[in-house]
Amino acid sequence: MHADKPLTQRALTPEEHTHSQFDTIDVLTISDLHCSYGNTKVVSSANISLNSGEIGCLLGPSGCGKTTILRAIAGFQGIDQGDIKVDGHLIANSLKQSPPEKRNVGMVFQDYALFPHLTVLENVMFGLNKKQASSEQRALDMLETVQLEQLANRYPHELSGGQQQRIALARALAPKPKLILLDEPFSNLDTELRRTLSLEVRDILKAQNTSAILVTHDQEEAFTVADKIGIMMKGQIQQWGTPYDLYHEPLNRDIANFVGKGSFLPASIESTHSITCELGQASSAQALLHPIGAEVDVLVRPEDIISDKDSSLIAKITEKHFLGASCYYELELPSKSQVSTVLSSHLNFEMGDHIGIRFSADHLITFDKKADGIQR
Ligand code: ADP
Repeated sequence: MHADKPLTQRALTPEEHTHSQFDTIDVLTISDLHCSYGNTKVVSSANISLNSGEIGCLLGPSGCGKTTILRAIAGFQGIDQGDIKVDGHLIANSLKQSPPEKRNVGMVFQDYALFPHLTVLENVMFGLNKKQASSEQRALDMLETVQLEQLANRYPHELSGGQQQRIALARALAPKPKLILLDEPFSNLDTELRRTLSLEVRDILKAQNTSAILVTHDQEEAFTVADKIGIMMKGQIQQWGTPYDLYHEPLNRDIANFVGKGSFLPASIESTHSITCELGQASSAQALLHPIGAEVDVLVRPEDIISDKDSSLIAKITEKHFLGASCYYELELPSKSQVSTVLSSHLNFEMGDHIGIRFSADHLITFDKKADGIQR
């Protein structure tokens, strides 16, 4: 057993003193984390930094190493290299591991993991000191927070999946952890409940000012809940940033492909701020990273394509999905390249229609044509 050691040993600078309590404190810092099972490396060089009160998310396809990172933070998984700090305290490196119960971290599992023989109230009190008179009140307060105080005396099998997950959240929050870890918490629920509960959980975490790391393979869930998202692929966090950054400033072609819809069209860099491609000329508020004259691929998102009946650029509708307020269309350009767009459902074009379109991007992301496809 290892005692937690405070890591910050220097005095705070005057600037640091002027920051508010929740301003810049990293509640979780993961530096150069490597994990393996036997000889198989499953996580390499992972870096994460989460401010107090922020919700972070690890998003990626199944098997990319998300749960392994979560288990390493919780203390259920050893690490080969790097370190993990919670609230400035070193809790794990390759030589020492604080036991899970000493990490000040709460966990919510995919299958809820409530104790079937305990009532709802007893489940929520589980991590609290039963001898303290205030514990029952704290548990009742947490039940009120998740709006299930009326179910205090029920048993888990008498609850719906959504109710069980809210109880699991109340149980994790009760001991006031610095960080909550949520492992695919909504994946056993149906689509509608997933959506409402994920928003509810975000509101509860924000109201409690509790930081959290969520693991999911569901992009919509990640974008709904998280302030920061790490896109994971093959054991590596490819980019850690806000949902806006990941969508609008993807660092490489894989991230651009994984996050949201979009296509790549061949383009030439015309000036420091403009390109030409099959869609015409387009300029970017930000300077482009490629040199003038370079042949690149430009990322075209659905919102970059607008309908314009007067345009000479004509595209054919090859796919249509009615979304209610809007319709998603896939369009074939004269070169046979595909782009997509989302237009008001009032327009209601049909499959096979030829429509006038215009390229209307206010910033451009260009990738080189090499296999790694990173921005230059
Ligand atoms: P994710 O959460 O992204 O689905 P995991 O972290 O669970 O991914 O798994 C990452 C990789 O490690 C996968 O290839 C998985 O098969 C492997 N793995 C997970 N747990 C174990 C284990 N206990 N022993 C051996 N390999 C494992």
